[in-house]
Amino acid sequence: MRIAAIRTYLLKAPTKSAFYSSQGLFSGRKSLIVEIVTEDGISGWGEGGQYGPAEPVIACIRDAFAPRLIGADPRTPAKHWESLYSSYRDFGTRGPYIEALSALDIAMWDLAGKSYGVPISTLLGGAYRDEVTAYGTGFYYPADGPTAVDPGRLRAEADSKLDAGFTAMKGKIGLLPVRDDMRRMEAIREAVGDDVALMVDSNHAYNLATARTVAAELGRLDFRWFEEPVPPEDKASYRALRDTSPVPVAGGEAEFTRYGFAELIGAGCVDVAQPDLAVAGGISEWQKIHTIAQVAGVTVIPHIWGSGVALAAALQVLAATPPNPYTAMTVPLQNEPVLEFDTTDNPLRRDLLTDPITLQQGRVAVPATPGLGVTVDRDVLSRFDVLETAAV
Ligand code: CA
Repeated sequence: MRIAAIRTYLLKAPTKSAFYSSQGLFSGRKSLIVEIVTEDGISGWGEGGQYGPAEPVIACIRDAFAPRLIGADPRTPAKHWESLYSSYRDFGTRGPYIEALSALDIAMWDLAGKSYGVPISTLLGGAYRDEVTAYGTGFYYPADGPTAVDPGRLRAEADSKLDAGFTAMKGKIGLLPVRDDMRRMEAIREAVGDDVALMVDSNHAYNLATARTVAAELGRLDFRWFEEPVPPEDKASYRALRDTSPVPVAGGEAEFTRYGFAELIGAGCVDVAQPDLAVAGGISEWQKIHTIAQVAGVTVIPHIWGSGVALAAALQVLAATPPNPYTAMTVPLQNEPVLEFDTTDNPLRRDLLTDPITLQQGRVAVPATPGLGVTVDRDVLSRFDVLETAAV
């Protein structure tokens, strides 16, 4: 099996309604998709990056990495990762280079699985589960009233998540004063009752002192983790918060490679590490990050924001992730890994795959066909592609 061509697609799609996180307005969604085509005409799919501009990532793929991969066997992704990373480490250990490498790595794992006729989870050593409990990410701030504390709207969203079968949910805080955001979280807790697991994400909106205040309130409301409480580069505040927080501390979606996670985990910053496969280095790097976390007793739950391709990649690694710790009684969140399931409208998640990855009573089945186990709908790909598709 040899690589004949590498194509990039920049997909952009409007969403039904705009919304705010604690850091900014989302009025549409985008995904950078990579297709690696072999000489036999088999396609492997990957995705790279999340929020930032995709053009630098495309340049890294087109100008730096793709010329070195043409003619190579894609079934040795970890070997290619080391070679490509070492060629650019002087200036490419974070950011677009690693997002580019992530996309290419995922696509090569897809091809390896297709070549051997097995899902990626088998190549990773074997699946521990064939479906994963999902948690619903939502409770964003509406664009038509982001600063309002609107318990009615939050209760309605909580009800719709309960109807979908979610037993775990994650909300946003950090845009409003702490007292108002805690009123929002109280409304959600009241709506879902005590048996639903709740987590919260502030997108690094706080300094250490404010994060401590928030953590105390979240403990009172029995939240299960406090995600990105402080800026990701402020490891000392992460560590100080974790030392005293009554709720577990989560983070890592802005971190890159085993080296970044070795620092984050080694400094004692998090209880839950959240690498994004499309950012941190793909599936090859996930394996190293997971090992670092496992040795430290830290749980690894992938961050997911992308299209159906990124979601499929996360499902494969989640299938192959052992409980933390391995035990006879598995309980989602307590020791079983869970799947982040974005509940905002995203046509790139919903429509890009011919068999969309869907929720069934709060759980998601892991595709069992070779590679990522999904097929990209080329009509949908063309419809949302805003590039004159670049092929190398
Ligand atoms: Ca997050």
